[in-house]
Amino acid sequence: MNSNDSSTSLIMIFGATGDLAKRKLYPSLYHLYKKGKLADHFAVIGTARRPWSHEEFRENIKDSIHSFVGADEQIDDFSSHFYYQPHDVTDSDSYIQLKTLAEELDTKYSLQGNRIFYLAMAPEFFGTIADHLKADGLTDTTGFKRLVIEKPFGHDLESAEQLNAQIRQSFPEEEIYRIDHYLGKAMVQNIEVIRFANAFFEPLWNNRYISNIQITSSEKLGVEERARYYETSGALRDMVQNHMLQMLALLAMEPPIRLTTDEIRSEKVKVFRALRPIEGNEVNEYFVRGQYGPGTIDKNEVVGYRDEMNVDPDSQTETFVAGKLMIDNFRWAGGVPFYIRTGKRMTTKSTKIVIQFKDIPMNLYNNNEQLQPNLLVIHIQPDEGITLHLNAKKSGQNMQTNPVKLNFSNEGSNGINTPEAYEKLLYDCLHGDATNFTHWDEVALSWKFVDKISEVWEQTNSEIPKYASGTMGPEEAEKLIENDGFFWWNLNDLDVENCD
Ligand code: NAD
Repeated sequence: MNSNDSSTSLIMIFGATGDLAKRKLYPSLYHLYKKGKLADHFAVIGTARRPWSHEEFRENIKDSIHSFVGADEQIDDFSSHFYYQPHDVTDSDSYIQLKTLAEELDTKYSLQGNRIFYLAMAPEFFGTIADHLKADGLTDTTGFKRLVIEKPFGHDLESAEQLNAQIRQSFPEEEIYRIDHYLGKAMVQNIEVIRFANAFFEPLWNNRYISNIQITSSEKLGVEERARYYETSGALRDMVQNHMLQMLALLAMEPPIRLTTDEIRSEKVKVFRALRPIEGNEVNEYFVRGQYGPGTIDKNEVVGYRDEMNVDPDSQTETFVAGKLMIDNFRWAGGVPFYIRTGKRMTTKSTKIVIQFKDIPMNLYNNNEQLQPNLLVIHIQPDEGITLHLNAKKSGQNMQTNPVKLNFSNEGSNGINTPEAYEKLLYDCLHGDATNFTHWDEVALSWKFVDKISEVWEQTNSEIPKYASGTMGPEEAEKLIENDGFFWWNLNDLDVENCD
């Protein structure tokens, strides 16, 4: 095996007792193991503050697989690859002990010096850990080394630049894998395939034929236990700066000259560079924020955001954002709005992209109320698939039209659930494929765009608009799109199971 064999690696998880590790990372590693993508030559070192033994850690791994995968096949073999090291992220001695254990495991499992450092910890520790990994010799290795960083990458452009400068002291850009787990989702990865592998979409994918694009990511859940973090973040930083803008980039970018990491990233960066900056007075014209009040979700009464645990009773934090984004390049100039909408405590849990095509120039069936615009709907989650909305003739003697939906369900086609985003991303990282991770240039440009909006909101004295829990956001979000002569498509009506 050569030293770049990706299934050969030591994976160090910082924050191994945390929620992300338990819910996502261990189940994903287990799936990879079961599929033979991780064979004998891998080991995992978990680190966190708790003084666990290797055995206690393995019991926790088994619990996690039991709870989140519901299986126990080969579980003893799998968990035997896991080791635990109590760790204080600020203390060099901890890293020196970690290095000794890493070297032992390197020999025991023939890992060829390959190392992945996964930072599943609070972001304030990212820079410190990266510093220590280099200073205490963990990056002195003959194999590959890769640093995986969870979101959020900074709080604004300035803090992101500081963090990046710090990390770059220890790792070059090509060794940094910034996670945006939306990029691991099957249907987000499908956007490029739908666009660039189908002869009938690409010619229409421009300002001449598309009237608007709507990207919605709605949650039914409230802030739950995340209030401390969320109060300093809000929906703009938590969802728009990363996931929503990444989906927009994939929808708007030019075809890359080939499917390599650099070429795809370069096309996405061009989209961010072409994003029309929204600043000053324009912010209130192009963006709407909101905060959930009390309401009803699934017939249960729920409290408003300000009454949630650890939330300031006068909080101005937005739990909802809607925006209109314009891309000033040859493909999109002239007015194809990209509307985005994301929030908590909304009517439904759903991430969908609706591409609405322009009406045909001369409509012979204009007197027919049923005639609908053509839509391409990309269902990201929880259902995965594609629906194409067309008009066809109603059966019978007359020439009445009927809306019909051509439907592809991704889950149904494979007969199994598609792999969890983290499984794909871990696999890519093991293979050294950084395409579905965000490059620094993308992060910087997205912060630059988003900072202009938050600056205005932070200086606004007026009360943040409220929406009742269980609704699709404040009235202002409806007006934002109605002013352009459009409306938000009802996500429940578009669901795959509601298709004819
Ligand atoms: P968590 O609070 O559940 O876990 C934090 C981990 O860090 C624990 O293992 C804890 O022991 C360890 N830790 C904290 N301080 C330490 C110290 N001083 N020294 C050593 N270890 C220390 O957090 P989480 O929810 O697992 O999130 C981890 C990261 O992943 C965060 O950056 C978060 O934003 C990101 N993230 C989490 C989720 C999720 O679903 N939980 C989703 C997306 C991103």
